[in-house]
Amino acid sequence: MFWFRKDLRLADNTGLHEAASDSASDVVPFHTTESAPARRATSDAIAGSDAVAPAQARFTHDSLADLAGAVERAGSRLALDHAPALEAVPRAARLARADAVYWNDEHEPALERRDDEVEHALRAAGVAVRRFHDRLLVPPGAVLTKAGTPFVVYTAFRRACEALPFGSPLPAVTHLAPHDLPARLLEPPGPGVALEQWPGGVAAAHRRLARFIRHGLARYAAGRDFLADDAISRLSADLRSGTLSPRTVAAAVLGEVRAAPRDRALAASAEKFIAELRWRDFYAHVLHHFPHCELGSFRRKYDRILWSGDPAHFDVWRSGRTGYPVVDAAMRELAATGFMQNRARMIVASFLTRDLLLDWRLGERHFMRHLVDGDLASNNGGWQWAAGTGTDAQPYFRIFNPVLQGQRFDPEGSYVRRWVPELERMPARWIHRPWEAPGRALEEAGVGIGSGYPERIVEHEEQRDLALAMYRIQ
Ligand SMILES: Cc1cc2nc3c(=O)[nH]c(=O)nc-3n(C[C@H](O)[C@H](O)[C@H](O)COP(=O)(O)OP(=O)(O)OC[C@H]3O[C@@H](n4cnc5c(N)ncnc54)[C@H](O)[C@@H]3O)c2cc1C
Repeated sequence: MFWFRKDLRLADNTGLHEAASDSASDVVPFHTTESAPARRATSDAIAGSDAVAPAQARFTHDSLADLAGAVERAGSRLALDHAPALEAVPRAARLARADAVYWNDEHEPALERRDDEVEHALRAAGVAVRRFHDRLLVPPGAVLTKAGTPFVVYTAFRRACEALPFGSPLPAVTHLAPHDLPARLLEPPGPGVALEQWPGGVAAAHRRLARFIRHGLARYAAGRDFLADDAISRLSADLRSGTLSPRTVAAAVLGEVRAAPRDRALAASAEKFIAELRWRDFYAHVLHHFPHCELGSFRRKYDRILWSGDPAHFDVWRSGRTGYPVVDAAMRELAATGFMQNRARMIVASFLTRDLLLDWRLGERHFMRHLVDGDLASNNGGWQWAAGTGTDAQPYFRIFNPVLQGQRFDPEGSYVRRWVPELERMPARWIHRPWEAPGRALEEAGVGIGSGYPERIVEHEEQRDLALAMYRIQ
């Protein structure tokens, strides 16, 4: 039996490939819809579940339906159980009379604990277990410093990883075993969360990959930070749910470079892209080696920060009404689409922690509840990077100025205009600091500060000093 988890595909799937090779394709495909085991509440203020984001629920549902179709074409049905894995997997193994269960490992603490329990239960029932690495380019533990410790500096980690080959994509499994296990897919999430821009499933994932290679890759290195420039891949939800493997993505990008050996700009862009994929690996390794990050700061002394912001500001931030246009645009994009690009994530995360002086874990949870690509390791790593509590060697006093970030990465203001219609007619010169615009410019643009568009919730210059004081912990 093969247990599908965050690897919802038949092609380039290590565990599935191994199962099919070991058993002449006599493999029962199985999935349990149990969501990730709940994380412990970080504190009273941040209690509450990691409710799955509507966009992600929809994406996963589409991807499962797509997988079920592919499994049928391979002569089987996708066996499904909706109970917790510890109950569902041994039950399915018994019903399928499986002599072994195969799966690809995850590297989140709660999932690692759960998988160990499932393995234990299966072995106790006389069923063999075979676990594989498939999720990252390089498995946790495969690279260590000379001292034998995990890397905590990204650049050194990346260099060590570059010395390891990540192999070619594996062929698709084409034959699976028929069986009588229940295979009823749950109803799709309601129409309120039908986010058409994120269709799940393998075909949609390959369309996104092809679109990126055709239209984004060559511009990626120069354009990825620009908020209105679509040079990014938008593959994070596919990598998170496993409708594509990182090997397949990397191989497609490198194949493009090989096809145009003289195109140095393309090669540089591809290198940058693979380096970004390695950030995904890096944060997964960090979480695996330092599971305390799940709940608190990587640098433990920052758990003692007394977050002095006004809790009511959290709602203002999340609804995109801070009065800082680039922050508001990004938060409104997240609410509307379940996505924002990396630069926007850094800007809003810096704003929550350094300008509003609120605990990064509030923002981390909010992202998990809204992102189509919400992933514990990347999200936690990104938030700790922005909050200055993580592995990053940069000191915590690097604070993003939201006006300068807007001016630099949305110079024409098109991103802001798209998501903050109140500022649609604001000239580029003032769009990132409308409070400084002369009365006449505001009038011509039809903008009223405090009436049409909110006043600034805080003054960045003042908050900067407060943030520095708040972070000064011995
Ligand atoms: C505060 C914060 C929270 C984040 N939360 C998540 C999250 O929940 N899930 C998630 O997948 N990414 C997260 N990221 C990382 C990054 O923003 C997204 O992966 C990226 O924006 C997705 O868009 P893309 O697929 O077009 O990326 P591209 O720029 O096209 O990059 C390709 C792939 O590389 C990986 N990648 C790129 N940048 C990063 C990075 N900084 N860290 C880790 N992986 C990266 C992703 O898998 C991405 O799909 C977060 C970053 C920050 C700053």
